[in-house]
Amino acid sequence: MKFLNQAFFFSLVFIISCSPKINKTPSSSQAKNIILLIGDGMGIAQLSSVYYYSDQTSNFSRFKHIGLHQNQPVGMKITDSAAGATAFSTGYKSYNAAIGVDKDTIPRETILEWAAKNSKRTGVIATSSITHATPASFYAHVANRNSHEDIAQDFVDTPVDFAAGGGLTYFAKRTDGQNLVEVLESKGVVVETKKLNNEHLPNNKYTYLLGSDSLHSKVGGRDDFLPKSTELAINFLSKNKDGFFLMVEGSQIDWGGHSNKADFLIEEVKDFDLAVGKALDFAKKDGNTLVVVTADHETGGFALSATEVFGQRNYGGITPTFSTGGHTASLIPVFAYGPGAEHFMGIYENNEIFKKMMDSFKN
Ligand code: MG
Ligand code: ZN
Repeated sequence: MKFLNQAFFFSLVFIISCSPKINKTPSSSQAKNIILLIGDGMGIAQLSSVYYYSDQTSNFSRFKHIGLHQNQPVGMKITDSAAGATAFSTGYKSYNAAIGVDKDTIPRETILEWAAKNSKRTGVIATSSITHATPASFYAHVANRNSHEDIAQDFVDTPVDFAAGGGLTYFAKRTDGQNLVEVLESKGVVVETKKLNNEHLPNNKYTYLLGSDSLHSKVGGRDDFLPKSTELAINFLSKNKDGFFLMVEGSQIDWGGHSNKADFLIEEVKDFDLAVGKALDFAKKDGNTLVVVTADHETGGFALSATEVFGQRNYGGITPTFSTGGHTASLIPVFAYGPGAEHFMGIYENNEIFKKMMDSFKN
């Protein structure tokens, strides 16, 4: 009896250890294109606000594969956007303020750089300056996020095919007197500083610098820049037969949180939701595109609290509240759609998002 049990045990071990090889290469997990959308500072309550403050069905309801990430950086409990984005872009946990470098300030290849090396097209979009921490972490390698001019210098040497956001100052009005707009143009990049074009020639590169630093907020009159640039970027990048990587950031959700302004914040989340919709519309049609939506951290300790009337809580109404002007340590939602989406379920560290994306992208 004992021998039988052992024989059974060893044959079971044999089956288990062999089965991954037998089941390998599920081609349905391979994505030609990846669109990563980051809502800076968007925790569960920020995301929830679109379910209460928008008349339209949220595009977040289109996801079936949802997880949570833990986001502590190296040496701290609470992350900033630089360490958060660097974990996504390189797979390395780093220190707050790190841009595309690990904890020892060693530059690490980003998913965008990997994609470009593998003949994919690449893009970055933000409503901040494109030299701001989140977008910068995908193409730049500097020790400190505040080095905007160094980041702009890195941008000029990057392979980015489509960029849109603000930050003209760091290219054209630099303390070193260089004009990086001219340098970009000398490399054949079309640089626009006024507005988005509706047409993009297939063999050009495009950089839109539509504000001296950040773009306007949504309540401050930004219009449809974020969903529109997302759609235009996808149209342009998807002309490439080898695929693309696109990072889109709703940068200012975070700023609504820092300033404890609920209207500002909610309008930013609604706008980001529309950009998510553009990515999902394409991915649904295309079938070879992985869409991942997440945030770097939560900002503001935001809550959809019960309205208080004369000191009494009234569950019939919501009054948004904040508990801090800074970031918090909350777990952050991750949404995935398309080939490989199932790998984003569960609870994991933020830098695993890099590995999960690369596992789908590679092979
Ligand atoms: Mg950001
Ligand atoms: Zn912040």
